[in-house]
Amino acid sequence: MINRPEPGPGILKIKPYCGGKGGHMAGNVYKLSSNESALGPSKKAQKAYSDAVASISIYPDGGYVPLRQAISERHQLRPEQIVCGAGSDEILSHLAQSFLQPGDEAIYSAHGFTIYPLITLAQGAVPIAVTEHNLTTDVDGILAAVTPRTRIVFIANPNNPTGTYINYEEMRRLHGRLRSNILLVIDAAYAEYVLANDYDAGIELVTSSENVVMTRTFSKVYALAALRLGWAYCPEHIADVINRVRLPFNLTTPTIEAGIAAISDQRHVEASIAHNETWRDRIFEELSAMGLHLTPSVANFLLIEFPEDAGRTAHDADAFMTARGIFLRDVSDYGLSRHLRMTIAGEKANLAALASMLDFMSST
Ligand SMILES: *Cc1c(COP(=O)(O)O)cnc(C)c1O
Repeated sequence: MINRPEPGPGILKIKPYCGGKGGHMAGNVYKLSSNESALGPSKKAQKAYSDAVASISIYPDGGYVPLRQAISERHQLRPEQIVCGAGSDEILSHLAQSFLQPGDEAIYSAHGFTIYPLITLAQGAVPIAVTEHNLTTDVDGILAAVTPRTRIVFIANPNNPTGTYINYEEMRRLHGRLRSNILLVIDAAYAEYVLANDYDAGIELVTSSENVVMTRTFSKVYALAALRLGWAYCPEHIADVINRVRLPFNLTTPTIEAGIAAISDQRHVEASIAHNETWRDRIFEELSAMGLHLTPSVANFLLIEFPEDAGRTAHDADAFMTARGIFLRDVSDYGLSRHLRMTIAGEKANLAALASMLDFMSST
């Protein structure tokens, strides 16, 4: 065997990320397999993006001050503590890169976002999955899994693909019992959709401690998934670390401009949230009435559980719907082989999905 370059420990254990089927599609198909926004982006964001084409020969503003300013005004945060990335995925990856050494452990919830084990393995570190309770992050389970090697706890709150969340008290209890040198990463990609009074996206904990980071994204309610724009609110010492490891021009000018325009168009965001509420409730009720079991969701998707009887399984439903041009998300990668995830989409797609599901459930 000839000697050839070998990647670091852990790299070849990574199972490459596999997205929801569909990609960019034309024709009579409905894509409810990725948690993209139902209403699409703000017109103002689209215009800002196209206007920025005039300046694409010039390097972007590597510190994206006006974007951080816009985010800080919207959320009442200090701009010095905000860092942006090419999607929040990039920031999560920088956190793993900066805080995990080979052999260290990072804890995540068993049905949590599949990016966490991926970025952990990339560092030669060990991902530790903690069993959930009622498809919800189990704080006591996480605390019991902490060892002297634990360096990061990743929590998606609300979680994808379950749609469940833990309340502020639970998150505070978790944080209060973690060693202060363990980084608690709260991935709040779906925060805007959560209307529950006992929810906090993580801002309180970041503000009052030195070991919590909250990540957010423009990919979901802002509907800018293709632009790859995310941000994190961090203690200053962690912002400093990310600003050292991130590449200097990780955001493009059109992305920065679209982000600023999107965040200033809160009317559009409110319309998206209202659409989501209405359809999530309606779809929940209609699918339940068909005899399916659904997990109550605070996000822009629903997790549907199917029976195990032949012809009635999640796999059968997926095949049936796909044949009719309706794409849901197979979540077996997340350890949920009896479930499919359905994203709340626009009216036409939602109705088409409901009609096909009714056909599936009433077929013999
Ligand atoms: C969609 C999603 C993200 C967002 O990723 P981006 O890289 O910002 O597009 C982050 N975390 C979770 C749990 C998600 O579902």
